[in-house]
Amino acid sequence: MTKPAVENLVIIGSGPAGYTAAIYAGRANLKPVVFEGFQAGGLPGGQLMTTTEVENFPGFPEGITGPDLMDRMKAQAERWGAELYTEDVIEVDFSQRPFTVRSEEREFKTHSIVIATGATAKRLGLPSEHTFWSRGISACAICDGATPIFRGVDLAVIGAGDSALEEAIYLTKYGSKVNLLVRSEKMRASKAMQDRALANPKIEVHWNTEVVDVFGNGPMEGVHIRNNKTGEVRELHVKGLFYAVGHTPNTSLFKGQLELDEVGYIVTKNGSVETSVEGVFAAGDVQDHEFRQAISAAGTGCMGAMLAERWLSANGLVQEFHQEDHTPDNELEGQQLATKASEEFDLNSTRHEGGFALRKLFHDSDRLLVVKYVSPGCGPCRTLKPILNKVVDEYDGQIHFVEIDIDQDRDIAENAKVSGTPTVQFFKNKELVKEVKGVKQKTEYRQLINSHL
Ligand SMILES: Cc1cc2nc3c(=O)[nH]c(=O)nc-3n(C[C@H](O)[C@H](O)[C@H](O)COP(=O)(O)OP(=O)(O)OC[C@H]3O[C@@H](n4cnc5c(N)ncnc54)[C@H](O)[C@@H]3O)c2cc1C
Repeated sequence: MTKPAVENLVIIGSGPAGYTAAIYAGRANLKPVVFEGFQAGGLPGGQLMTTTEVENFPGFPEGITGPDLMDRMKAQAERWGAELYTEDVIEVDFSQRPFTVRSEEREFKTHSIVIATGATAKRLGLPSEHTFWSRGISACAICDGATPIFRGVDLAVIGAGDSALEEAIYLTKYGSKVNLLVRSEKMRASKAMQDRALANPKIEVHWNTEVVDVFGNGPMEGVHIRNNKTGEVRELHVKGLFYAVGHTPNTSLFKGQLELDEVGYIVTKNGSVETSVEGVFAAGDVQDHEFRQAISAAGTGCMGAMLAERWLSANGLVQEFHQEDHTPDNELEGQQLATKASEEFDLNSTRHEGGFALRKLFHDSDRLLVVKYVSPGCGPCRTLKPILNKVVDEYDGQIHFVEIDIDQDRDIAENAKVSGTPTVQFFKNKELVKEVKGVKQKTEYRQLINSHL
């Protein structure tokens, strides 16, 4: 069936709520459109892209990493025909039917909507936050903790919830000591988490402590902390500061379009996911200030899709689609990288992996050399993988591409001054011509490659 002018359902967000809604709506032959997001309100894949082990999602008795879980949800949504766009929604109009949903690149008219835009990590607004952001300050221990600047040095984590404690425990793998800065004299984290953190000899808890600012001449050298009981301000010499201070619901798009509560959460009808506008449903953390769990987000995503289907049927609006074969983005992830071993190195291959290949290519390649630095468990690295894979494919034979795991090739990461993952560096004739941190749109990588080919 050709696509009609008006969609059945547009889902905004790709955390557990968004992908679950997409799986259910796909299974119901609604062919949902999903805006996965890009930079607004977190990563495609949502908050679990920034965590390590998820131990409480049913069906994984041994646990599963957050990025693996989200990869699976995405693959399942694609399998059932969801149409995914890794783009931010920048505008919605719920005042007229069909509704309008717009990104920078496209606009859809749709009969129904599931909002699953989740929540975003808060920043503190310290005076020098901007200067030291990604140069000592990080909001993602899992993404950045393994980088050389944080190895074997003292670190600090701000926060007192489960996320803060999880990050502090994770960072003890890399830092020599982790200072946990807690604003009051107790923590919000679960008892089990507190027990783990307090029993860890590498973690020191500083109670009643607030950060005044970060200092350093070039790289970060420490933080000024204030004891809010005594007023005493002192220096704490740490080379990294990790924020874990809670979240804000991602609802600025919906102000004036839907009923929100005083904090900004979408108001849903008791026990349901119906919003103040018929045909618009809200699922996951964007409407949940109480449970905020992957399984509750997935559960409400399921409810959103089922209620959307019922609503479309009741209003005679359903258009059914049948499954077609498709090539999921994830398929590219299986693509063969040239192997690490010296005897298998082939200068003619476009794709390579590991330090040996990088050293060879750095000296012998006359092509543009694109080096991607990743670390284990880094969610944004997963997000970047299909994006960059597609771009690298387009330049097959014209560039060389190397993937470096900074945990395995520490010396290389250190020499390259990598301060967070993912980072992509572009070299031409042994010169670094550009460095890009984080995840960008394909067009940005294409432009960079074109300008240095
Ligand atoms: C460090 C950490 C560890 C956690 N560990 C666990 C755990 O072990 N078990 C557990 O059950 N829960 C855990 N949680 C909580 C869990 O991650 C959340 O409850 C869950 O991810 C909420 O899912 P969601 O789908 O509502 O939203 P999110 O996961 O927040 O996803 C929101 C999505 O919306 C997208 N988005 C936002 N704005 C836009 C826009 N304008 N346009 C398009 N898309 C947009 C984002 O890109 C993202 O894809 C953890 C959270 C954190 C931060």
